[in-house]
Amino acid sequence: MIFRRKGSNPTVIRHRPRCSFCGKERGEGGVQLVAGAGVYICSECVRVASEILRHHQRPAPAGT
Ligand SMILES: [Zn+2]
Repeated sequence: MIFRRKGSNPTVIRHRPRCSFCGKERGEGGVQLVAGAGVYICSECVRVASEILRHHQRPAPAGT
């Protein structure tokens, strides 16, 4: 996405969105940002989070 500098656009965000986890800005190192509810996550953190979640997906222990 390209940021256009137009003073007439009230929706322009003054600060650049950056990853809420690692602080990378969009385009930094080729990362993409995914916007959440007031937060952003970059493609790298998405991948890391996916790996973490995968490791946590252990089969539930059989109940008594
Ligand atoms: Zn990140």
